[in-house]
Amino acid sequence: MVLFHHGEYYANPVAFENRTKLHPLVQNLLDSVLIFIKLRFNKTINARITSTVSTQLQDALLHRTSTTHQEGRAFDLGLNGLSEKEIQEIKTAFTEVAGHLGAINPQTRLPTLIVDHDTGLGRHLHFQISKQVARDWK
Ligand SMILES: [Zn+2]
Repeated sequence: MVLFHHGEYYANPVAFENRTKLHPLVQNLLDSVLIFIKLRFNKTINARITSTVSTQLQDALLHRTSTTHQEGRAFDLGLNGLSEKEIQEIKTAFTEVAGHLGAINPQTRLPTLIVDHDTGLGRHLHFQISKQVARDWK
């Protein structure tokens, strides 16, 4: 189920169209993030989902090394309009409730739900679930 059907929460038509191809857990996580931002900060205009499910070609063009987007296990939240304090609050809250679902970091071998980075298209929060969590989910 996707609560936020409106394109206004998405930065581009591809991210919007492909939202329904996300793993159900990731769809729930995405909606929860939008609800959190709306209720906690009353900000929906500038905070947008910039990426959901991508193709191999799109990932190659973006020099992505992880396949989490292709596999429907990840989405990106653009941070325009959010303060540093608000960004930290999102990271803390979601790591607390869902951190254990995160994809395994190849370096640390620990579950990592949120990666805060700039891959060339602007800083964003990359939310990701692990292969095992995706597979075991009923
Ligand atoms: Zn990402």
